[in-house]
Amino acid sequence: MTRLRHFAGSPPERVVVLDDARARLKGVVVLHSSRLGPAAGGCRFWRYPNMAALHFDALRLAEGMSYKNALAGLPLGGGKAVLALPDGPFDRTRLFEAVGRAVADLGGNYVMAEGVGTTIADMSAVRRTTDHVAGLPAMPGRAGGDPSPWTARGVFRAMEVAAHYRFGCKLEGLTVAVQGLGNVGTHLCALLHRAGVRLILAEPRPGVADALAARYDAAILPPDQIVGARADIFAPCALGGILDTSAIAALRAKLVCGAANNVLATPEDGDRLADRGILYAPDYVVNAGGIINVAAEYLGWDLAEVERRVEATGTRLERVLASAWDEGVAPSRAADQMARRMIRDSPVRAGRSLLWA
Ligand code: NAD
Repeated sequence: MTRLRHFAGSPPERVVVLDDARARLKGVVVLHSSRLGPAAGGCRFWRYPNMAALHFDALRLAEGMSYKNALAGLPLGGGKAVLALPDGPFDRTRLFEAVGRAVADLGGNYVMAEGVGTTIADMSAVRRTTDHVAGLPAMPGRAGGDPSPWTARGVFRAMEVAAHYRFGCKLEGLTVAVQGLGNVGTHLCALLHRAGVRLILAEPRPGVADALAARYDAAILPPDQIVGARADIFAPCALGGILDTSAIAALRAKLVCGAANNVLATPEDGDRLADRGILYAPDYVVNAGGIINVAAEYLGWDLAEVERRVEATGTRLERVLASAWDEGVAPSRAADQMARRMIRDSPVRAGRSLLWA
């Protein structure tokens, strides 16, 4: 398969192509690893230049989910659904019901949740045709609903630890440049402002940065200048692949810690950051709050358990940074090595019954 030949990551266990012309559904579900439990990961609904680009993104994202879930200590493997946003009008409910049928066919080996471009309403449509979905409206006192506040909280806890590690101080008085003021970025700004951080904001949607800047007395930069902002910390909260050779050369911040998945354009970019003395808090270590909430919803854990596990994000990052120091490698390499070890050393799961027993 051509696209797998170009993919430098570890190969997935299974790739399922989704193609339902009547529902206008085109996409792919990638089950990267089910060694720790059913493959779990969000559903991305996005426009790609072609299907090869969509497949490539799905492969990378699914592998990232395996590592994220392993390092977060969840009894889940990693997977991802990526769907092509159709051109022109389409029936959204019908499309997501068709997605649910495809997930149902996987018999519980993949658990879907909300992701970039999908909503709680979409997951409710998926729920009509399968049980294997989370990210549904939350019941009082139970996990569920929008995972973004949990993701932001985990990123914030990680940033506290990373700031201490890199600058030897608290966040108070530092400047953070936030790229992307969507679901997570907005929640993160609130937490950072409360902690006494100065904010520099960038967001392409008209009016969004102005409204937050007025609330938090923040500065604004055009989106194409935020990477080079005069800030102590750069918090990427938009899309992935943004830190390539030229972006890394432009960075002025000495710490990168944000919510976006797959921030590094290539694995070598993690080494480039380390070479420049920039501490990179690996994306999937710090942004696991959302999947912890999703796992809790699916596995029936209560909110206190979600809180405990999200609050421990800083401790998990500390372990990764300590391992990077011990091994003399970039934190992104240390995180990958730790996650691969955890997956490799776990006993092979004896079918779903083990997890659900
Ligand atoms: P979102 O779509 O709500 O927000 C992303 C924002 O980034 C949007 O407002 C968009 O306009 C903005 N943006 C796009 N291009 C930009 C640019 N060049 N410069 C500045 N802003 C730009 O998404 P989200 O749910 O907030 O997630 C943000 C990132 O975090 C994504 O990469 C997502 O995969 C990752 N993530 C999210 C969660 C979660 O719980 N939502 C969990 C884990 C990881």
